[in-house]
Amino acid sequence: MAYDFDLFVIGAGSGGVRAARFAAGFGARVAVAESRYLGGTCVNVGCVPKKLLVYGAHYSEDFEQARGFGWSVGETTFDWATLIGNKDREINRLNGIYRNLLVNSGVTLLEGHARIAGPQRVEVNGQTFSAERILIATGGWPQVPDVPGREHAITSNEAFYLKTLPKRIVVVGGGYIAVEFASIFNGLGADTSLLYRGELFLRGFDGGVRTHLHEELVKRGMNVRFNSDIARIEKQADGSLLLSLKDGSTLETDCVFYATGRRPMLDNLGLETVDVKLDKHGYVEVDEYYQSSEPSILAIGDVIGGVQLTPVALAEGMAVARRLFKPDQYRPVDYNHIPTAVFSLPNIGTVGLTEEDAIEAGYQVQIFESRFRPMKLTLTDDQERTFMKLVVDASTDRVLGCHMVGPDAGEIVQSLAIALKAGATKQVFDDTIGVHPTAAEEFVTMRTPVSR
Ligand code: FAD
Ligand code: NDP
Repeated sequence: MAYDFDLFVIGAGSGGVRAARFAAGFGARVAVAESRYLGGTCVNVGCVPKKLLVYGAHYSEDFEQARGFGWSVGETTFDWATLIGNKDREINRLNGIYRNLLVNSGVTLLEGHARIAGPQRVEVNGQTFSAERILIATGGWPQVPDVPGREHAITSNEAFYLKTLPKRIVVVGGGYIAVEFASIFNGLGADTSLLYRGELFLRGFDGGVRTHLHEELVKRGMNVRFNSDIARIEKQADGSLLLSLKDGSTLETDCVFYATGRRPMLDNLGLETVDVKLDKHGYVEVDEYYQSSEPSILAIGDVIGGVQLTPVALAEGMAVARRLFKPDQYRPVDYNHIPTAVFSLPNIGTVGLTEEDAIEAGYQVQIFESRFRPMKLTLTDDQERTFMKLVVDASTDRVLGCHMVGPDAGEIVQSLAIALKAGATKQVFDDTIGVHPTAAEEFVTMRTPVSR
């Protein structure tokens, strides 16, 4: 049977664009449908605009620190509308780049909601197309718990388009998005509270990282409340919000922002017309080749509920394109040693095993830690401290994990990820000459394990 396309990709986000472009480059006839925005979450309401806002928020510290170096900064003011307007312009530019990338690589771009109409059929804007294979790359969507008054809350989607900077904001959650946005709003001058339901936020990160970041956020004046959750949200006559907390206390704010995880985006996708199985959390279940239980349908990225990061979606998109259309170049995605950063202020950078995971996995661990005041701050009143940690397998000397909280932690950990992937031992770290004076050199100069 002749199909309209060899591959029909649903979703022009990180994973979908990568798969579509490379498949077309390998000679396949490819269509991609996008209902909302080219570039997906990362470009429009994720990594990119978030990082721009983080840069914006950092200036408050930069201005303060500049005084220690002799600069008279004078009175500073911040204009939210300028930051958001400039951010929007940059995102528009990136949308155009994504459009050109797709069109120039020979992909047929269909702008509209795609609905699967059978194992090899997709409907977009009232037109039905046949395809030998369909790739679901529809990403995720913020999830807000069923709290009375939740209609008054915003999520990361809306945060990027707020008309004004709230004077007071309450961020709910203890994951990546919660700590990043709480840092952004705090840095920009909003009176910021972070409420997390558990004992300590950032579950799954190294314990040292979690406690260090907590201390640093508190130093910056953020109201961080653990074992805390909202029972009800009420709008008051003056437009402010009254939050009744589960412990019986109340909190008044101008904006409540839920960052309580994301669900797979499968809305009106037509899955009832095919045999695509979902796992118990509602994500598309796939095998090692990203193939679903319907043989012609594959899925990648956030919608399969693995590691929800852009570089992972990109790698999965590439793996699918290669396996289907350039099998001699196929390499499975290696999910070990995925480095990641949380762009809180200060940043977290991490790769490999946490101390807790290493112990749980049965390793005898040696731990190396360093806490210090960065050199840049010695001429300032800023009391921020940097934290670095190595988790080492005592029996083989192999470095299992590197963790950092401090300026540019993500930049530093990216390079360390190469060393960990190459199987570097602590001896290799010790034999590496440092770059002086940097914070990063601390990773090759930690000599004495901490005793536990
Ligand atoms: P997406 O990028 O979400 O793309 C899915 C696309 O499919 C969307 O454009 C959507 O409109 C489209 N779509 C959905 N349904 C349909 C349909 N039926 N028809 C047509 N189109 C459809 N990751 C990092 O690595 N670093 C970061 O700093 C980072 N920051 C983040 C900050 C925030 C606030 C958020 C929310 C996420 C962040 N992420 C970050 C995660 C990252 O954005 C995702 O992991 C990544 O975008 C997933 O790519 P994807 O291709 O699976 O899906
Ligand atoms: P996460 O899964 O990281 O965190 C969700 C948080 O919300 C957890 O602290 C969780 O608590 C809490 N939570 C969940 N349900 C409830 C509830 N009903 N009531 C109260 N609290 C609740 O999700 P995010 O939304 O922060 O981010 C989604 C994903 O996007 C991340 O996991 C990451 O993969 C990606 N991302 C990556 C970034 C980066 O690379 N820098 C930045 C932003 C997002 P508990 O721990 O107790 O379950």
